[in-house]
Amino acid sequence: MSLLPVEQALAKIFERIPAPVAESVPLVEANGRVLAGPLVATHSQPPFNASAMDGYAVRSADFVQNSENAVHLSGFSQAGAGYSGVLQPGEAVRIFTGAPVPEGADCVMMQELATVSEGRVSFSERPAAGRSIRPLGSDFSAGHTLLSPGTRLTPYSLALAAAANAPTLSVSKRPAISLLSTGDELVPPGSPLAADQIVSSNTYGLIPLLAPFASIISDHGIARDNFDELKNKLEGTLSSDIVVTTGGASVGDHDIVQDVLKDLGVEIDFWRINMRPGKPLMFGTHGKTLVFGLPGNPVSAMVTATVFLLPALRRWLGETAPLGPRLTLPLTGPLPPNGPRRHFQRATIETVGQGVTRVRPIAETDSGHTSSLARAEALIIQPENDPGQPAGATVEVIPLRGL
Ligand code: AMP
Ligand code: MG
Repeated sequence: MSLLPVEQALAKIFERIPAPVAESVPLVEANGRVLAGPLVATHSQPPFNASAMDGYAVRSADFVQNSENAVHLSGFSQAGAGYSGVLQPGEAVRIFTGAPVPEGADCVMMQELATVSEGRVSFSERPAAGRSIRPLGSDFSAGHTLLSPGTRLTPYSLALAAAANAPTLSVSKRPAISLLSTGDELVPPGSPLAADQIVSSNTYGLIPLLAPFASIISDHGIARDNFDELKNKLEGTLSSDIVVTTGGASVGDHDIVQDVLKDLGVEIDFWRINMRPGKPLMFGTHGKTLVFGLPGNPVSAMVTATVFLLPALRRWLGETAPLGPRLTLPLTGPLPPNGPRRHFQRATIETVGQGVTRVRPIAETDSGHTSSLARAEALIIQPENDPGQPAGATVEVIPLRGL
């Protein structure tokens, strides 16, 4: 069986992903969600000409002839309680940061420049039109698109949405995900270990990896490599939007996940992907349910989840860039030549000297070694048949932290 290029596998997965479905959520629940419709400003910000300083609002024209002029203090403008009159020639208004600049005034002089005496104020500098005023609409104007569909919401964009007076946002519904581990040798963490047993660890990486993209993640535990038990447990997962299994995805005698999925009516593609780690990958559909069969090796499971599942989920949510963040970074040292399979090489990211960031490959290729994956901060994407790269050459990188 020939090996399928990573892009082709991703394209086949993307073909099966439904269009995003919108739901409305309150702002406090929207962090990390993906915007389904544009956020359009319904008012301008600031909604009035606002003072940028504590000081005095004046008419600059009053000071053209005589910069020493002392003008009469005729009232106050505070945040939330503006001056109701129109500033007349020869008048000033005491004003505070964020307060509306009264009509007629065109300048705010900060209080450090002011001298007040007997109800009049003068300044050590000549007032100039526009000084210390945030003009109406200078942040954003009514009708402008502030955030586009496909944006993943952050604390910063949510502060903007609140400033735009939006109590709720239209975001994409997230899928419900079910996880199932398979393998006769697996026991849950914390179990007394018999000589031939392995702790089932994949779920504990996959749950937090996928959680930001899911409405709920149900862990269906461990199924033995036994047709009936696997069938029973898998059947219970198929009401989810997305099912993720790990293990049993090779072609050994005990790798029966594929047979069981077929028996349950899952239309399945089994691929050998032209990559390392993580060669075998199953993908199929059961009605509207998408089924991903990841390899059991812990590093392969997490790497294939990063390379295929996360983009699938970003796509499901309608994110503008479904492949997620990518960096281009110089290498700290040489990268050895690659064979014919695309290599997702574990690596650390280092800041060296004056803010220069570089990527250092971890000399580890075993797909079972979780310790090196735990240390990794990035995966270097080394192309098929890459001849090797010298120190300083730039490589494409998938960051693993702060996604
Ligand atoms: P398999 O894909 O079932 O052939 O498993 C490949 C390797 O991954 C074997 O060494 C398994 O013991 C190991 N493995 C499978 N599932 C898990 C799991 N959930 N947690 C840790 N290791 C696993
Ligand atoms: Mg197995």
